[in-house]
Amino acid sequence: SVYWFEDRFVAKEEVLVSPDDRGYYFGDGVYEVFRVYGGKLFEPGAHFERLARTADGIRLPLPYSIERIGRKLEELVEANALREGTVYLQITRGSAPRSHPFPPDAKPVALAYCTEVPRPVAAMEAGIALAAVPDIRWLHCDYKTLNLLPNVLAKQQALDAGASDAVLHRDGIVTECSASNVMIVRGGTVITHPANNLILHGVTRGVVLRLARAAEIAVEERPFTLEELYGADEAFITGTTVEVTPVVAVDGRAVGGGAPGPVTRRLQREFAAAIGL
Ligand code: PLP
Repeated sequence: SVYWFEDRFVAKEEVLVSPDDRGYYFGDGVYEVFRVYGGKLFEPGAHFERLARTADGIRLPLPYSIERIGRKLEELVEANALREGTVYLQITRGSAPRSHPFPPDAKPVALAYCTEVPRPVAAMEAGIALAAVPDIRWLHCDYKTLNLLPNVLAKQQALDAGASDAVLHRDGIVTECSASNVMIVRGGTVITHPANNLILHGVTRGVVLRLARAAEIAVEERPFTLEELYGADEAFITGTTVEVTPVVAVDGRAVGGGAPGPVTRRLQREFAAAIGL
């Protein structure tokens, strides 16, 4: 497959990253994962807005304009003849001998590649189980940076407990999952954590809230507790690769009677329509 690296289209073997890359030493970089449906990037504007906001937040100057990066990603999808899958893009602060301060001469390094990924139809149909894990991340979870160790540890802890993913909470307040946002339904209202510094502002989260409002489903962006999640009428997660996936159990207890609920199903249908199915 074709990679985009240092602004050239090359084979994977030609991607030579320096051991001094600050992404490797410090997780000092930003990334995005875009969904491709029918050969087209889904919601590119929202992803690029988040990329620019994150880069700004960590004071990383992007090596190319957003417009140029967008064009290159389209060319990459084309070069790989990708129809259904994802594009991974990461930009690190560049390479310099290991030292914490920003290196004055380092040039940011950009890398992107495609992966064929089918839609997760089985999980979207049956729903998944979550395990609650304390959210021990820093206070800028709204930046999509390469520092994912807490997310990796939470995901593994959930898998080890027999669940599919971790639902993170700060002192009992549910924030999000290891790589997706989480929403509950109570009395017909969709409730999800506000898009502040404690969660990633998911592109899919934004799309689903827009679809809910358009379908005249009430939406509340407010913190909710683990207890509210356990007792919810319905729950689901949203994300670039999981789309709208029902949650049917948390910590071994059935949620919403242990089956996907009607609001979740409605939003899944709306989402499928939004991606042209
Ligand atoms: N929350 C976290 C921690 C994530 O890593 C992601 C990304 O996959 C999401 C939420 C969902 O964001 P998006 O819908 O933009 O994929």
